[in-house]
Amino acid sequence: MENDIKEILISKEELDQKITELGAILSEEYKDTKPLMVCVLKGAILFMSDLIRKMNIPLEVDFMAVSSYGASTESSGVVRILKDLDRTVEGRDLIIVEDIIDSGLTLSYLVDLLNRRNVKSIKIVTLLDKPHRRKVDLKPDLSGFVIPDEFVVGYGLDYAEEYRNLPFIGVLKPEVYQK
Ligand code: 5GP
Ligand code: MG
Ligand code: MG
Repeated sequence: MENDIKEILISKEELDQKITELGAILSEEYKDTKPLMVCVLKGAILFMSDLIRKMNIPLEVDFMAVSSYGASTESSGVVRILKDLDRTVEGRDLIIVEDIIDSGLTLSYLVDLLNRRNVKSIKIVTLLDKPHRRKVDLKPDLSGFVIPDEFVVGYGLDYAEEYRNLPFIGVLKPEVYQK
């Protein structure tokens, strides 16, 4: 599996340090409220589980699964809800936890959908951001790393459902796509 990686973009240590910082910022910002952390499955699972361990305030977690139609490495903006939140969110402070924002289409759809449920607030925290790929005007409130326009895997992110369990963010070798 690690043989398929051309380059490690973000190491395990860099991830840990950054997520510690993000956890501290969120803990301070949400210390007087009990935020609902919304993990967008499946890519954000590792980020979510590490992030909440760095937050020393009361919080709740929930999960959403969405699929966007289109080619495998680009999203179309047409989003289908595969799993909705378990509980109602009216009046709640939501923190959407994402693995990566690329075109922004998936997340902008999700934010619109959740806003219609009369939430008190929504903030977006993403581990990775590819801002130059944006097709809609969407900015995360907090982001871990801005990365170049390369398809990355690991630490929750997949290629054809593989590589999610790598402990770092890496770039795949081109021959893996061509196989
Ligand atoms: P967007 O709607 O912002 O274009 O797409 C966001 C989703 O596309 C992410 O949540 C992720 O699932 C997928 N995605 C975008 N860029 C990458 C990438 O570089 N690597 C991987 N593995 N998935 C990506
Ligand atoms: Mg995602
Ligand atoms: Mg994927």
